[in-house]
Amino acid sequence: MRGWQGRALVFDASRSSSKVWEYGGEFALSYIGGRGFTARILWDLLPQGADPLGPDNLLVFAAGPLTGFPGPGPSKLVVAAKSPLTGGYGDGNVGGLAAVRLRECGFDALVVRGAAPKPSVLVVEDGGARLEPAEDLWGLDAYECERRLRERYGKGAGVLLIGPAGENLVPLATVVCEGGRSGGRPGIGAVMGSKRIKAVVFLGGGELKAADPKGLRRVAAEAYREVSRRPSYGLWLRQGTMAAVRWAEENSVLPVMNFSEGVLEDVSRIDGHALERLKVRLRGCPLCNSPCGNSIEVDGKLAELDYEGVAMLGPNLLIEDLRDAARLSLLADLYGIDSIGLGVVLGFAMEARERGLLSEAPEWGDVRGALELAEDIVYRRGELGELLSRGVAYASLKLKADEFAMHVKGLEVTAYDCHAAPGMALAYGTSPIGAHHKDAWIISWEVNNDRLGYTRAKVRKLIEQQRIRGGLFEFLVACRLPWVELGLSLDWYLKLLKAATGVSFTFEQLWEAADRVYALIRAFWIRERGEWSRLMDWPPRKWFEKPLTRGLLRGAKLDPDGYSAMLSWYYEERGWDERGVPRRSTLEKLGLEDVASTLEGVVGLSP
Ligand code: SF4
Repeated sequence: MRGWQGRALVFDASRSSSKVWEYGGEFALSYIGGRGFTARILWDLLPQGADPLGPDNLLVFAAGPLTGFPGPGPSKLVVAAKSPLTGGYGDGNVGGLAAVRLRECGFDALVVRGAAPKPSVLVVEDGGARLEPAEDLWGLDAYECERRLRERYGKGAGVLLIGPAGENLVPLATVVCEGGRSGGRPGIGAVMGSKRIKAVVFLGGGELKAADPKGLRRVAAEAYREVSRRPSYGLWLRQGTMAAVRWAEENSVLPVMNFSEGVLEDVSRIDGHALERLKVRLRGCPLCNSPCGNSIEVDGKLAELDYEGVAMLGPNLLIEDLRDAARLSLLADLYGIDSIGLGVVLGFAMEARERGLLSEAPEWGDVRGALELAEDIVYRRGELGELLSRGVAYASLKLKADEFAMHVKGLEVTAYDCHAAPGMALAYGTSPIGAHHKDAWIISWEVNNDRLGYTRAKVRKLIEQQRIRGGLFEFLVACRLPWVELGLSLDWYLKLLKAATGVSFTFEQLWEAADRVYALIRAFWIRERGEWSRLMDWPPRKWFEKPLTRGLLRGAKLDPDGYSAMLSWYYEERGWDERGVPRRSTLEKLGLEDVASTLEGVVGLSP
């Protein structure tokens, strides 16, 4: 095999022992890499019903067949586990040197089971892994911890780590690296903390062999050139994803006051132009020529900003100044907590105060109060900190406040208001990890084409996006932004794949692999929960019940009948039954006969 390393390292942290799993071409062609690998590994190796924060859970890191090779943005890896936040499949991707070095260690994936007896660093190198003591690092924030790790292991090491949120088993904790990158929103950082692994260090140093190295360099050089010629390249380098703040506000999809409204009176102090005025640094993931890591300085530190974090910790809390939102975003990065999830629980608390349910929560726009409460959440301090640290689904259950809890399947909603965006609501409803836009950002298509319709065409567009974003890009594992934001053609990825692996993949093969992995992830949720219903794919109640009161779309809210019809079409198109459970015939067609046998015993299968 070329392109793939053909090996995964399985490390038992309880015994400090590792073994190498060599997989064959059939596995590679069926699951490609990244999320395909993590989903199959979790299905195969995780004991059914495992406690997400117990030693039986698996922490899986997987790169893809393009990772580490030149090309636009293929330096990411997927981190995955059974989620302590949702109880289902959880994953996320994170860009950085770690992805490249993992592959240079000779592996496409690392699986960690068990739990270390004391705080440790897991050091991975060519051929194996070992635990090293980390008592001196436990308790440190992510920036300081990484500084010390680089002193110890060198500037070129690939590093992934957790902050205090992961150590404290906060289900909103992420895996972080390189001063502002993070991944694994469904609490993957807490899973790492439960294994007492403060950091994973990939030393790398080995070689990556492409099927056609010369051809790969040529295609990559052409693709880089193409990226830099795109008309929006200049704006992208200036503002990155922050350009979306103004776009979202103009189109009434900006989350404002816990997703109550889609517009803000004045975004000029918090939009991409505000970023341009304050920006002190631009950097990117390795091998990327469209860098989007824009930083500003707050309180003597650099805060790397993106649309999601700023929208959720700014307008969603009625905080309207970029520096203030950056303070909260920096706190999230230092402590290793999901900035989106944090924005949702803080917004929930502020609305609960307004409704007279939580007198001790901060008021809208109270930055100082939000910072204090965020710290309480990270350290699980006090009744309110402890309550919110468990995520918004848990907190709303305790307060009997489901009508303004913004989540799907227990995962907090990302930064797009859906009162007037039924397609995006369905994207959140059917995302395989809970409410996340990474699998389908249909909102921009919806705004430009058919804003308010509940149509089968929209459902088909959504599935097309899930195949591309949740399939192709999550498998490779490549950054989708050159395609989404700069309009780079998908054909480049087929060319890069061919040069890296020697395999002439067609889009149809990749879409089939995506459908396989979607069905597998759905099966994982059902197996672990022991039941399923279409309510699991239902967006937050607020978008159906409390209309927008401001902007051009005031009065808009979602229609439950329209949404239900779209959900049924979605199931039909995917070959799932009316409950949202994959049909036996669908699983068999995708080569998942073994999965069908297990599911039959859990919920019964439709033919
Ligand atoms: S576009 Fe941004 S997120 Fe994507 S690879 Fe480049 S720097 Fe990383």
